[in-house]
Amino acid sequence: GLPPMPPPVLAPRRPTRQIKVGKVMVGGDAPVSVQSMTTTLTSDINATLQQIAELTATGCDIVRVAVPSQDDADALPAIAHKSQIPVIADIHFQPKYVFAAIEAGCAAVRVNPGNIRAFDDQVKEIAAAARDHGTSIRIGVNAGSLDKRLLAKHGKATPEALVESALWEASLFEEHGFRDFKISVKHNDPVIMVRAYEMLSEACDYPLHLGVTEAGPAFQGTIKSSVAFGSLLSRGIGDTIRVSLSAPPVEEVKVGLQILQSLNLRPRKLEIVSCPSCGRAQVDVYKLADAVTAGLEGLEVPLRVAVMGCVVNGPGEAREADLGVASGNGKGQIFVRGEVIKTVKESDIVETLIEEALRLAEEMPAG
Ligand code: SF4
Repeated sequence: GLPPMPPPVLAPRRPTRQIKVGKVMVGGDAPVSVQSMTTTLTSDINATLQQIAELTATGCDIVRVAVPSQDDADALPAIAHKSQIPVIADIHFQPKYVFAAIEAGCAAVRVNPGNIRAFDDQVKEIAAAARDHGTSIRIGVNAGSLDKRLLAKHGKATPEALVESALWEASLFEEHGFRDFKISVKHNDPVIMVRAYEMLSEACDYPLHLGVTEAGPAFQGTIKSSVAFGSLLSRGIGDTIRVSLSAPPVEEVKVGLQILQSLNLRPRKLEIVSCPSCGRAQVDVYKLADAVTAGLEGLEVPLRVAVMGCVVNGPGEAREADLGVASGNGKGQIFVRGEVIKTVKESDIVETLIEEALRLAEEMPAG
């Protein structure tokens, strides 16, 4: 038969150059990748590798580590070698750490334009070393560390200032024929951030790394990042993303993956379709949805499970999903692929749904 149709997306990806971040391609037709950053001391090799392993297991594609000291730089060879995913060294000030990261086998190095003047005359050497080792660069412009000259010119970190800064630093590398970089123009205000990326995407075809910086604690940060990334990705802008949360980095990866899945930029995995509940509900929908979500955590198959509170929309949604329950009268009608397979008492709903979900999952190819 015919291959299945790919799920619809809101807009085609904007064409960008493709670069290599270790084994992960960024830009062009490569899938949008998800990044996070370790919170351990990079010099603590074991703790850092442990956190990278957790991030990898959660679905992180690329990880960044901070390199503020010589001890951190010294840890890079072991980390780059043992990490299962490409490692980017994040370097703000010392060019010597940039060389150390390239020598260490890091997949990429992130540099900050606000500080690049300090190593202006070493851009040529950095470009040469990066080219020799197949290392790419991220030009990371950040509102909080914008070049003083541009701050003075624009008054504050406007979208124009962020973009001018990024293009200026890109030109420093372009002068030496080096173009294997991606660019970010981060701001903590999603509106300024979105505008900056729009302008940048019109001004160049470098792959873009999306980020709302200092987005805040999990709830606020998730919303700010989702709104900003959604606005850009839905128009094809953005090649790799990092959700910044004041929360453990695995949470950043979960949010990032969920954003991509929502936009069909990643295959959807487990999806719980649950109703908000209302005055008609004949069962505690929140508890039911939480229990089903918890029971199915980690299930890596595309499965839509509907958890519905009553018979108004319940049967309809439950029928549309792979699996579902429509509750009422202390009972739950269990649907599998559109058919009622049984009716169970309320206390057995969760167990039955989990059982059926695992049975369906076994019939599906993983992926
Ligand atoms: Fe209310 Fe029923 Fe709709 Fe849930 S399914 S929101 S309980 S009408």
